[in-house]
Amino acid sequence: MTLPASLGPSLVESYLQFIHDSCAVGEQGALADYIPELTRVDPNGFGLSMAVHEGHVYSIGDARIGFTIQSVSKPLTYALALTHKGFTAVDERIGVEPSGEAFNEISVDSQRRPRNPMINAGAILSASLLLEAQPDVDKAFAELLEFYGACAGRKLSLDTEVYESEMRSGARNRAIAFMLQSFGTLKAPPEDTIDLYFRQCSVIVTTDDLAVIGGTLANGGVNPRTGRRALGQNVVQRVLSVMTTCGMYDGAGDWVTSVGLPAKSGVGGGIMAVLPGQLGIGVYSPLLDEHGNSVRGVSACKRLSSDLGLHIFNVTRESRVTVRSHYDAEELDIETDRTPEERRFLNGKRNRIRVYELQGDLTFSGMESVLRRLRASASSFDVAILDMSRVDQIDEVSRAMLVGSSQNLRASGRDGVIFDPDSVVVQKGAHASEARRGAESVVQTMTEALTRAEDSLLEMAKEPS
Ligand code: GLN
Repeated sequence: MTLPASLGPSLVESYLQFIHDSCAVGEQGALADYIPELTRVDPNGFGLSMAVHEGHVYSIGDARIGFTIQSVSKPLTYALALTHKGFTAVDERIGVEPSGEAFNEISVDSQRRPRNPMINAGAILSASLLLEAQPDVDKAFAELLEFYGACAGRKLSLDTEVYESEMRSGARNRAIAFMLQSFGTLKAPPEDTIDLYFRQCSVIVTTDDLAVIGGTLANGGVNPRTGRRALGQNVVQRVLSVMTTCGMYDGAGDWVTSVGLPAKSGVGGGIMAVLPGQLGIGVYSPLLDEHGNSVRGVSACKRLSSDLGLHIFNVTRESRVTVRSHYDAEELDIETDRTPEERRFLNGKRNRIRVYELQGDLTFSGMESVLRRLRASASSFDVAILDMSRVDQIDEVSRAMLVGSSQNLRASGRDGVIFDPDSVVVQKGAHASEARRGAESVVQTMTEALTRAEDSLLEMAKEPS
């Protein structure tokens, strides 16, 4: 039998193509026409991309047509402002409350802060914060472009015609900038700020780019294509939060309930959506609804979410049970280096050592269930060995809980040893104090773990109980 030269479209590609085609019907919506350049596009242009694990990108339809990023730039500039200025300084100047108003509404809160960074007022202020750090517009834009490029995984460029046209019009955005200046909220020169803001809106992207940018956010800030970190995890968390509550403007509530993906739209026709931990989506179709969101883009996102079960609150299972199994160390066929006297004492006592095999990614709720299991069975062992060889990742909270639980076991006259062959608990080259904190109970081989556990049994026998 000879295999066909090409396998044809994959199942996932066929799904995406089907969703794309089902949403390509009708010509509802209108092109943005506040500048002539945005009307010079094919109204039927329609692209869909999805960036998944390992940085793979599915591209359907017009996935390589370039269009201006427009407001999809807002979360990125906000991220850059947070990175440069820190959360406190940014929060003093830009709120995080959904405004329930149109994107270009001239609105501020009682402290005269723009209500959130996803409406124009907040986005213009974000751009001004970049200029506070780098007053030269060219240099500030170069830096911004480099950051957008790091998120997209390729070098991006400016649509000069759109930019110049935005600059010639833009009365309303100028009004917003000057209003914010009069409030004392905007400190950089308003004209420079508007210049930078229009440049950021005029960056050319494709749906593949939006999908990869979304993928970078989904991946906690590490670009899934290049493997490089583009932004910090805490910044990603903040950006996804405001995208969830404010990303789709006055349509945000409907969007969260029906699509349930943090997202951002732009009047160029693009939408970027993110499923945290999993994937990024880019859609392009320039016909817009009354909110300024792409009509086909919105319907494609709705279909993707419902057909593929991508809603962030689509809870399919309880978080995975993290104790894979547990057994007595008696079952281990491992010799430890002992004196005859020690060997005599330890003979038959390995059943006082219990090994717990943990698995998966350890976060608070998984670790909580592990610790509860340990407590419940504490009368059946003197020493617990926590086998971390099947644990992929452990977050800071769980790491602290793990070290704390060994200390608790010691305080109750027992002991805990952590078998950590791949250094997930105490990272190789970890900060000295962190290594010290856990080092006495963290070992790299099962023989060491068993030796440490037996040492504890010997110690316990010496101490008067
Ligand atoms: N350049 C547009 C503006 O500021 C971007 C708005 C948008 O995409 N929603 O008006």
